[in-house]
Amino acid sequence: AKEVGRNTYEFYEAELNQLAIRRHQLANELRQAIKNEELSLVFQPQLNIKANKVIGAEVLLRWHHPILGNISPAEFVPIAENTGLIKEIGAWVLDNACAKIAECQKEGIDIRLAVNLSALQFRQVDLPESIASVMQSHRIPPRLLEVEITESMLMRDVSQAIDILERLKEMQIRIAIDDFGTGYSSLSYLRRFPLDALKIDRSFIDELVVDADDTAITLAIISMAKSLRLEVIAEGVETAQQKEFLAQNNCDDIQGYHFSRPLNYQEFTDFLKKRVDT
Ligand code: C2E
Ligand code: CA
Ligand code: CA
Ligand code: CA
Repeated sequence: AKEVGRNTYEFYEAELNQLAIRRHQLANELRQAIKNEELSLVFQPQLNIKANKVIGAEVLLRWHHPILGNISPAEFVPIAENTGLIKEIGAWVLDNACAKIAECQKEGIDIRLAVNLSALQFRQVDLPESIASVMQSHRIPPRLLEVEITESMLMRDVSQAIDILERLKEMQIRIAIDDFGTGYSSLSYLRRFPLDALKIDRSFIDELVVDADDTAITLAIISMAKSLRLEVIAEGVETAQQKEFLAQNNCDDIQGYHFSRPLNYQEFTDFLKKRVDT
C-alpha cells in the first residue's frame, strides 16, 4: 500500500509539473498569438423568447495554435489575466468586436454585441475613455455595445465599480452581470449599480426542471431581476424543455446550443439574414 501511495504521489507531482510547463508555454506563445493572427472571435446569438427575435450576440474569443490546435478560453484567459497579457488581448477583442458591429451595419444589420471584460480590464480607470475612443474610431452607436462583467468584479471595490459603470452608462453602453448567482452580491448592493441585465449562470440551467434547487434558484433570480427592472437572460440553454420552462416563467432571453452554437462571422451573418428572410 505504501508503494502505491508513493507512486500516486509521484504521478500527481509529474502531472502538476506538466500543468506548470504547459501554462508557462502557453503564456509565452500567447504573446505572439495576436501578432501571428491566431486569435479570432465567434458570435453566439441571443434570442428574445416572446418576440422570437435575435436581440444580440455574445462575442467569444478563440485561439488556434499552429501546433497545439484549439485552446479553450477557459484555459488561456486565466493565464492571460495572470500575466497581464489580457490588457492587450482585451483591447484587441474590443476593437475587433466594434469593427464587426460596423461591418454588420454596412450590410444593413443592426446587431448588438456583448463583450466579456476581464477583472484587470475593469480595474483600468481609463476604461470608459478607451471604449469611447474605439467606438468613435469605428463610428458605431453605443447602444450596440454591451459589456459583461462578473459579480466578483463589482464587489472587489464597490465605489470604483459604481464610478466606472456610471461613466459607461452615461455613454449609453449596456451593462450585464455575467455568471449571475455564483457570486455573493446582495440585493441592496445590486441596486446601487446602473445595470441593464442579469445572465443566469449555466450551472443552474444545466439541470433546470430536473433539479429542484437549481430550479428554485433560477426562479428566484428571475423574480429578483424583475423586481429591479432588469432584463434577464439564461445562458447554456440546451433543450426545448429548458426553453419552455424559462418562457413560462418570465425569463426574457436565452443563449445556448438549443438556439445556436457560437458561430464564425460568416456563419453569424448568414444566420441573421436567414432569420430575417423567413
Ligand atoms: P462565459 O462568459 O460564461 O461564456 C459562455 C461559455 O459557455 C462559452 O464558452 C460558450 O461557448 C459556452 N456555451 C454557450 N452555450 C452553451 C451551451 O448550451 N452548453 C454549454 N455546455 N456551453 C455553452 P467558451 O467560449 O469556451 O468561453 C469560456 C469562458 O472564457 C467564458 O465564459 C469567459 O469567461 C471566457 N472568455 C471567452 N471569451 C472571452 C473574452 O473575449 N474576454 C474575456 N475576458 N474572457 C473571455
Ligand atoms: Ca460571458
Ligand atoms: Ca457566463
Ligand atoms: Ca461561466
